Amino acid sequence: MSAPPTTPGPPAQRRGDLDVQGCSPRGPWADVDERDWTDWRWQQQHRIRTLRQLERVVDPSPGEVRAIEATADRFRMAITPYYAALMDPDDPECPVRRQAVPHLDELTVREGDLADPLGEEGYMPVPGITHRYPDRVLYYVTHNCPVYCRHCTRKRKVADPRSAASHDQLDLGMAYIQDHPEVRDVLVSGGDPLSLSDDRLDALLGALAQVPHVEMVRLCTRNPVTLPFRLTEALVSRLRAHQPVFVHTHFNHPRECTPEAARCLRMLADAGFSVANQMVLLRGVNDDADVVREVNHWLLRQRCRPYYLFQADLAEGISHFRTPVAVGLEILRALRGHTSGMASPHYVIDAPGGGGKIPLVPDYGLRREQDTLVFENYLGQTYRYPAD
Ligand code: SF4
Repeated sequence: MSAPPTTPGPPAQRRGDLDVQGCSPRGPWADVDERDWTDWRWQQQHRIRTLRQLERVVDPSPGEVRAIEATADRFRMAITPYYAALMDPDDPECPVRRQAVPHLDELTVREGDLADPLGEEGYMPVPGITHRYPDRVLYYVTHNCPVYCRHCTRKRKVADPRSAASHDQLDLGMAYIQDHPEVRDVLVSGGDPLSLSDDRLDALLGALAQVPHVEMVRLCTRNPVTLPFRLTEALVSRLRAHQPVFVHTHFNHPRECTPEAARCLRMLADAGFSVANQMVLLRGVNDDADVVREVNHWLLRQRCRPYYLFQADLAEGISHFRTPVAVGLEILRALRGHTSGMASPHYVIDAPGGGGKIPLVPDYGLRREQDTLVFENYLGQTYRYPAD
């Protein structure tokens, strides 16, 4: 028998390597220098904020043109060139465009819609801290985001420069956390916390790491979706000093699953962050099991766990995105059992007014027949199990 070859061949391709190859289209920015394009500051400085700037990227529909003006004082528009280049220039129904460009339906407020659908302001012991659950708090550190998502549940304050967190407010929030030993989990949120500078983020996570009773921090950011270049090696290496830090992001559609985003998620996973996705179920964007499955499979290849599928909140100005609950249950039913459990997120309603997350589960025909529980599996076949 001949000896196995001693010279190594070409490195084996890793699973999902195709996901990180190449670059996304750059639309009208094709001639921009690579260093500028991949510089998050350049992206922030060149955000689309006006109709004229938007017209360079897409052909706005008459409705979009009117909506940009009509919504300007309610929830302004801002879109990074990176995210804008993912939009279909000719289709106003493009799922990226729907999430970023104002729509006239945002002006409709239905009965039951709420400015603060989760009652976050009512559970605020000090400005900038929501303490609703016994052992965890939401800590708002900024109201800026690279892209203002049209479905944002915090439209009441995100994007409004008057509501930005001051240094004093941040200090008050930190003091509250330090004074409450029951707080073991801090969700750093906003806005998008990665809108802060590297120094401020480092200082913030460093201060939280010094609080003995804080066991973990969750960094809630959509930058991997809207501005993946923000996750530089320098920033990631500074933040990893404050582990355990869980990064929660927000991918909604396969158009957002780009090589740049894949590289960003992999860098976070390689640096030891636990990364999870919180998708929001949005009419016309991802109200389809195939779309959700495609995103979730892609996320898992980047070591990002599909964690939640949120039913859209009752926030004012997003009712056109809301689907019936039956749609979410159908999506879950189409995933569970048909693909791996890790690709099947928890489908939840965040109860209006601050009742917390309520899991929604498809009907598997569960009933009791004397001493036996009867239910159906994912294929609709009936099974029995002892009840007691
Ligand atoms: S990134 Fe989050 S906080 Fe910012 S606009 Fe989007 S949904 Fe709202």
